[in-house]
Amino acid sequence: MKFISTRGKSDPVTFSQALQNGLAPDGGLYVPEAFPQFDPDTITGVQDIIAPFLYDDILENHVEEICNNALNFDIPLTILDENTSILELFHGPTSAFKDVGARFLSECFSTLAEIDPSIKKTILVATSGDTGGAVASAFHNKKNFNVKIYFPYQGVSERQQKQLTCWDNNIESFAVKGNFDDCQRMVKEKLSEDKVTYSSANSINIGRLLPQMTYYALASINRPGISFIVPTGNMGNVVAAFWAKMMGFPIDRINIATNANSTISKLFTTGEYQKQATVQTIANAMDVGHPSNMERLLYLFPELDVLKSICEVRSVSDEEIKETIIKTKEQYDYIPCPHTATALKFKEECEGPWTIIGTAHPAKFETVIEPLIGETIEMPPALGELMELTNNYEIIEQIK
Ligand SMILES: *Cc1c(COP(=O)(O)O)cnc(C)c1O
Repeated sequence: MKFISTRGKSDPVTFSQALQNGLAPDGGLYVPEAFPQFDPDTITGVQDIIAPFLYDDILENHVEEICNNALNFDIPLTILDENTSILELFHGPTSAFKDVGARFLSECFSTLAEIDPSIKKTILVATSGDTGGAVASAFHNKKNFNVKIYFPYQGVSERQQKQLTCWDNNIESFAVKGNFDDCQRMVKEKLSEDKVTYSSANSINIGRLLPQMTYYALASINRPGISFIVPTGNMGNVVAAFWAKMMGFPIDRINIATNANSTISKLFTTGEYQKQATVQTIANAMDVGHPSNMERLLYLFPELDVLKSICEVRSVSDEEIKETIIKTKEQYDYIPCPHTATALKFKEECEGPWTIIGTAHPAKFETVIEPLIGETIEMPPALGELMELTNNYEIIEQIK
């Protein structure tokens, strides 16, 4: 299996090369050259879904071990009523679904380093919240790897900051005096200065996207004809859902919920893609005005009308998110995080049964949720343990 660039001007590469390149040399994003077709009856676990994508790759014989090490936490389906269920992706070590992609990426990198000691070993991450914590947790104490995390000084929540800075040994954290865009710019500069030393773990990396297909596939095997509402920012999780559908898994519809950043819903109504300035919302992990994975979705659906015939989009305001959190708690005694709440809001307008993608544990966003519901949210044990560790970070003006 080869991976090709959405812009068509780079050579096809293997999975491991795409993993290390991050972005294709022509500036495009890597996508699989073809989608293997599956008979759902033959799938025994995630490794069966991933294996064809690593066929003929240097990691080919390590797929099962990588999947077992990376995806070793539960992804339960919680039923709220006959038409509403939530696929909870947030039971990993940092309580957000980014653990799925980050842990798979780190297992792939460290297995590669055992086979080929010359691969790049310093991973750079710019983060506005959840990504940095998941990547740090996934790479912590991985032999031969260093991670440098750049986050906006005073720009993340207290619990998010804890998750970014509670590490030691091979993880370094930097609070940058600037916003997320400054962090991202600094990481990009450093990456282009020294391609030999540095790699990135940002969300366009194929190594983060591939494992995300598997929970859609497995959920559809358990419930053929399932439809999903995916809360999204950078559209990675949406692309993964469509890829699973392309492979023949019995998925019906895939709807998209965003926060007040409405680039996608404007595209669906006007037919034109126009990137917008990012709006800050209470679902902050989805604050994206120019979703980079849109390029992968439009590559899959060059005709917007085809996409629109199987998929709808809804932009949800902060006010609606708050109302939905209160209502869901009252109606079902269930507390969604603000991101998951955008999909639950959209669900109210969709007919029939839908599965909501639950992207974070509500305890990560307690400052938003607790005043709304008037009670304290219990922390999952893994998150609680991280909160006990000491903070470790340097405040910087410029990249180090
Ligand atoms: C990153 C994130 C999202 C958005 O995921 P995309 O792949 O960018 O669509 C949604 N919710 C949470 C909690 C996240 O951390």
